[in-house]
Amino acid sequence: MTNPIVRFAPSPTGRIHIGNARTALLNYLFAHRAGGQFILRYDDTDIERSTKEFADGIAVDLDWMGIKPDLVIRQSERFDLYHSVADKLRAMGKLYACYETEEELDRKRKRQAARHLPPVYDRAALKLTDEEKAAYEAEGRKPHWRFLLDHKTVAWHDLVRGECTVDCASLSDPVLIRADGTYLYTLPSVVDDIDTKVTHVIRGEDHVTNTGVQIQIFETLSGSSPLFGHHNLLTNASGEGLSKRKGHFSISSLREDGMEPMAVASLAVLVGSSESVRPIAKLDELGALVDLARLSRAPAKFDEAELDGLNAKTLHAMAYETAAPRLRAFGIDRGENFWLAVRGNLERFADAAIWAKVIEGPIAQSGERDRAFLSEALAVLPSGAWDTETWGAWTTVVKEKTGRKGKDLFMPLRLALTGLEHGPELKLMLPLIGEAETRRRLSE
Ligand code: GLU
Repeated sequence: MTNPIVRFAPSPTGRIHIGNARTALLNYLFAHRAGGQFILRYDDTDIERSTKEFADGIAVDLDWMGIKPDLVIRQSERFDLYHSVADKLRAMGKLYACYETEEELDRKRKRQAARHLPPVYDRAALKLTDEEKAAYEAEGRKPHWRFLLDHKTVAWHDLVRGECTVDCASLSDPVLIRADGTYLYTLPSVVDDIDTKVTHVIRGEDHVTNTGVQIQIFETLSGSSPLFGHHNLLTNASGEGLSKRKGHFSISSLREDGMEPMAVASLAVLVGSSESVRPIAKLDELGALVDLARLSRAPAKFDEAELDGLNAKTLHAMAYETAAPRLRAFGIDRGENFWLAVRGNLERFADAAIWAKVIEGPIAQSGERDRAFLSEALAVLPSGAWDTETWGAWTTVVKEKTGRKGKDLFMPLRLALTGLEHGPELKLMLPLIGEAETRRRLSE
């Protein structure tokens, strides 16, 4: 197989959500794993609802998840191409002018319903004479344009769903161009897929019927079509579809909430797949787990609580090299031992600042201090170079000397040293806090 070329084609009419991210990631990982290319295509033919802010926001969201497009195109800059292809289809007799108003079409559908017929367009416009068309035009009507479907069953081998068929005889000829001259999504998408040599169209299963129609358009225009894969969709925890317009789980809101990009990407890709949802450190590793043929056919539930848990696990396993530049950006430059000490206690990356503050002090001391015990402990605190063994050696002596053990031994020390009942392992914290500060906290 030649290197795959895929595209992610959002309309910039809102912020992308975790379900859109799933589509983007499945495309990106599928192509990159095979040395292919990923095109970001803005489906912005709807000039009214598409905005530059949304387009820029999508680029930021993808970049945040580590997706670097090899090419970016905008449909709004490609109308000349669509016009010329529309002319070609007209010349082939595959795109025909229709003059019915919405009300007229509605009446037709009602009549069909009364006769228990499916609401399929009756192709009356195909029978219009030139005089009748001229009369409509003279009335001021502008035509909309429908693609003349072959009434046959279109079949393809779907990368996710296996053998798929769409019976195009049961579909209305799709409107490709509205009466006001604007394009619906169907034609520009095919034209661009052909023009940019897309080899694999990977998108949500809500597009399966479109694919039946689009394969006919592909074959009419280029004699062949790309391969298709329709992945299962994400729903919210109660099973409702996610909506860009309603702003469900937008990538930007997850980012602002402090989620790790790899946690978001891992969940978006692994939920509803044959792999268990688990923290994955890098996109390449995630890519190796993508198997379109083994995605579940059922919708997959996106659960915020699951993302919270995965976010924490992602941080707990994060390598220092990954964390270091981000720690520095927070003004925390305390080396690898700091990261290894605190990462297991983070729910959000920003929590690292809490632990840096605990190490630096001053800490807020709370509750009653067991001064007698603390001064006994202080008296046997070792001096010299501290390492991760120091805590164990020290507390063994404290235990012998005071007869305390377990919580009675450790909790007063933890409280005195950190001001908190819970936190990173003290054997890791002690060398970070350092001898002088430890002495000070024990004697306060
Ligand atoms: N703009 C379309 C959408 O967001 C693209 C669908 C496709 O991938 O072809 O649904």
